[in-house]
Amino acid sequence: MAAGRARLSIVVPVHDEEAVLPEFQRRLAAVLDSLECDTEIVYVNDGSTDGSLAALQQFHRDDPRVGVVDLSRNFGKEIAMTAGLDCAAGDAVIVIDADLQDPPECIPEMVGAWRSGCDVVLMRRRSRRHEGWIKTATAAAFYRTIGRMSMVDIPENVGDFRLLSRRAVDALRRFPERSRFMKGLFAWIGFPALQIEYDRDGRYAGETKWSYWRLWNFALEGITSFSAAPLKLASYIGLATSAAAFLYGAWVIAKTLIIGDPVPGYPTLVTLVLFLGGLQLMALGIIGEYLARMFVEVKQRPLYLVQQHLAPRRAAVPQAGGDEASP
Ligand code: UDP
Ligand code: MG
Repeated sequence: MAAGRARLSIVVPVHDEEAVLPEFQRRLAAVLDSLECDTEIVYVNDGSTDGSLAALQQFHRDDPRVGVVDLSRNFGKEIAMTAGLDCAAGDAVIVIDADLQDPPECIPEMVGAWRSGCDVVLMRRRSRRHEGWIKTATAAAFYRTIGRMSMVDIPENVGDFRLLSRRAVDALRRFPERSRFMKGLFAWIGFPALQIEYDRDGRYAGETKWSYWRLWNFALEGITSFSAAPLKLASYIGLATSAAAFLYGAWVIAKTLIIGDPVPGYPTLVTLVLFLGGLQLMALGIIGEYLARMFVEVKQRPLYLVQQHLAPRRAAVPQAGGDEASP
């Protein structure tokens, strides 16, 4: 860090969090007041339909550290985080959920770790005691699967709550892809990382936006954007069935030649046809998943559109383009 105070940006994706925001802002501001850093808070309003935007605009008026990026519609948390990282100007950036599941009180410890030279500070959940057993079990299964399949190591029980140095943020911003599985991208960039354990609280108010269907799609996205293993799976299953079919064919021929054939085999035939049909559809489906993602990437649409950008009134960094009179 060069001379002067370190600059820290906090990125907060917000989607329909009206009920939590005042308490979140109060706790976050209290923590930031205690830090020896210049700070800015970048709220990204991800197409909220409740009073969240009005609340954020109020924060912007009341607190010179608060900036608001209002996206043109709901783009999903991953894109909202990307928008926040694009707008954050600090030497380090912390991404935190607005629902107070990630306690802002952990921030000083994260900053301490960053100051000791880490580029990435990961917050690892010690417990998931506020989440039901189904969620805990499915999450564990997901981490196991993706851990086996993908070429990068995706740390388990580490969410999006983390600190990234400027170097890491700039690296992330170079990823052009549209399907942004952030946990994977964060892992891909590497850089010296440190894990800190914390207790994840329950939601302060409001409801989670992640239905099981959405989580399932999220998992699919993670797997398909970080691993080509399912594509290979289809070839191996094909190979195995061909081998089995060859053995079975040899047996049928031998049987006909030796004992003669009293026309049996209708059930076998039906079973085989259905089984192979199913396998083929599954393989096509897997190819389709990848094809669909290529389709999305190839279109090269912008990742998000900003409707309104309220920069913090006391910017963490002198805004580019402003004339700086030299003393
Ligand atoms: N979020 C978002 N866009 C969405 C869904 C969620 O920006 O489409 C934000 C949400 O406001 C919160 C964070 O992402 O700050 C985590 O969302 P949530 O608490 O619903 O997820 P969970 O904690 O259950 O994983
Ligand atoms: Mg949450």
